[in-house]
Amino acid sequence: MKPPFSKILIANRGEIAVRVMKTAKKLGVSTVAVYSDADAKSLHVFLADEAVHIGPPAAAESYLKADKIIEAALATGAEAIHPGYGFLSENPDFVEAVEAAGLTFIGPSAKAIRAMGLKDAAKDLMLEAGVPVVPGYQGSNQDPDFLAAEADKIGYPVLIKARAGGGGKGMRKVDTPADFLEGLASAQREGKNAFGDAHVLIEKFITSPRHIEVQVFGDNHGNVVHLFERDCSLQRRHQKVIEEAPAPGMTDEVRAAITSAAVTAAKAISYSGAGTIEFIVDGSGPLRPDGFWFMEMNTRLQVEHPVTEAITGVDLVEWQLNIAAGAMLPLRQQDLSINGHAFEARLYAEDPTTGFLPATGILHHLSFDASARNDTGVRTGDEITPWYDPMIAKVITHANTRNAALAGLITALQGTHVAGTATNARFLADLASHKDFKAGQFDTGLIERDLDSLTCAIPPSIAHVVFAGIAALGIDPAAQTNGWRLWGAAQHRLKLVSNDDVIDATMTLHADKRISLAIGDDSITLLDVAIDGTQITARVGDMNASINAQVIVSQLNEKRLISVLTGGVSHDLYSLDPRSGSADSTAHANAVTAPMTGVIIQLTAAVGTHVQEGDKLGVMEAMKMETALVAPRDGVIAEVFCAVGETVEGGATLILFQEDAE
Ligand code: ADP
Repeated sequence: MKPPFSKILIANRGEIAVRVMKTAKKLGVSTVAVYSDADAKSLHVFLADEAVHIGPPAAAESYLKADKIIEAALATGAEAIHPGYGFLSENPDFVEAVEAAGLTFIGPSAKAIRAMGLKDAAKDLMLEAGVPVVPGYQGSNQDPDFLAAEADKIGYPVLIKARAGGGGKGMRKVDTPADFLEGLASAQREGKNAFGDAHVLIEKFITSPRHIEVQVFGDNHGNVVHLFERDCSLQRRHQKVIEEAPAPGMTDEVRAAITSAAVTAAKAISYSGAGTIEFIVDGSGPLRPDGFWFMEMNTRLQVEHPVTEAITGVDLVEWQLNIAAGAMLPLRQQDLSINGHAFEARLYAEDPTTGFLPATGILHHLSFDASARNDTGVRTGDEITPWYDPMIAKVITHANTRNAALAGLITALQGTHVAGTATNARFLADLASHKDFKAGQFDTGLIERDLDSLTCAIPPSIAHVVFAGIAALGIDPAAQTNGWRLWGAAQHRLKLVSNDDVIDATMTLHADKRISLAIGDDSITLLDVAIDGTQITARVGDMNASINAQVIVSQLNEKRLISVLTGGVSHDLYSLDPRSGSADSTAHANAVTAPMTGVIIQLTAAVGTHVQEGDKLGVMEAMKMETALVAPRDGVIAEVFCAVGETVEGGATLILFQEDAE
């Protein structure tokens, strides 16, 4: 088949840029990436056939610069622009500028975007088309007392929404008339600050609300189909966390009603391309054909589109490209059906234990469970910067039944390993295991209600610590030809920091290759320790259980970070010199010891030379990491016990200082 375009430009970054390129490649369409300074080495740039630099990291100066992006498309000979989601995707002025430049916008018309752009006008339009909307006031009178009177008429609780709002911003729930004016002022402030528009509407707050949305698709020949619904009720602060398709508890009758309302909505604006009609649904009991109301339309591809792809077998980006090139919808409504059940979880660099503070950092390790579809824009070694949305990946599972797809999601999340930054992986796995969610009984308030139990920090277990210890000391049982006692001491003190707690442990390497570790009265003994790359497996001595984890060692400035990754959790432990602050400090000051087992790859220390504290005396390599050997104090080197190329044991004395230099 002839490709819909010969070359397209993707005006986006991260996972969605990569996602669009994947389909473009499949269809034989060449791709042009655009990138900011912060993204010069990003995956989307690497995967594109061509890439054009468009500016500094700030989105306002790069990914939101319509003129630069259009210029890049013209310069590279791209015929069309795919906007992804976010950034310029719902900006009608951008669409007009793209078309004025003689290019095709892969998405709806500027007119359709405008019609749905403001929540109040969109609701009026939908009312006219006969689509049920949430009862409320969406008129032009913005007088506070008038709005308060409208809220009384609607009945409390009410939701005040900035008409230009998005992403959950500019929204305030008000429970009693006494709180109305304050809620109004703060919604207006947020609307003004975030969107430059203080205009609000008032809605009845639907109790036990569920968020169910319908994927629609139109072409430029007047055809519109729907691709069924998605349930996006698992939300935090009005933002989606886990999505699924189809919606649990959906009946044929309700599905017929909600999808036909969605198609009516799309037809009312002659919609072309991929779009989503979002409904708020009464979830206080079984779903009813009269229990859903239009909230808004998103005139683009959604983040959660993969769950629809999974259950329908349709590549939505392929449809977007073909339809933008003028093709008719490839399937009729009766040709579309639901196959099984799908989930998507949004993996973020954020810390659930600190109120979901966004995290940044270098991904020292990133690996996914191969059983799931993993849409990502980053690789091991890439950085999560503070410039953009800190989403790392979307984890998507599909199976015949909801239970099986959910079990698959939990497995996939537990097999998602990220080192170098905090993530919400364990939070997502716990959420996916929540009993009400498993039972399909939930509304948008579930996360908030159980927030404490879903976000509590789990301290590392003794098994995590022993794994970290093995890595910290660079122990590899397979490489030990001469037993464990090469350096004379079978016992090692280990000092690790987890969060702000210092863990003092003693690790013993027994002659029969058992490893035991004690922290106070608690202890663990491992047998059959095996190391394969970053994977450590072992048997626990007194139980017949085997345990395993991926252990990643990375050097962060002066500190060595050991990430023990298991079950979707990354325990980050920093290793400290065990003698720091202890009575052993004199010994420490007289010698440089090997921090772990490894190979000396560089040595500048020479007997008799005077060195200063902090001077680099050599470099060791262990677990694929380089570690500098530095002088612990000013002094004269008395002896050097190692040579370049030599393998040394963790703890071994490598360089000795003269006593008199104390
Ligand atoms: P945004 O454009 O900021 O995403 P939406 O209008 O799509 O805002 O609403 C976001 C979320 O807020 C919904 O998914 C739902 O959880 C909640 N919400 C919106 N309207 C109502 C309502 N009338 N009653 C209860 N919850 C609502």
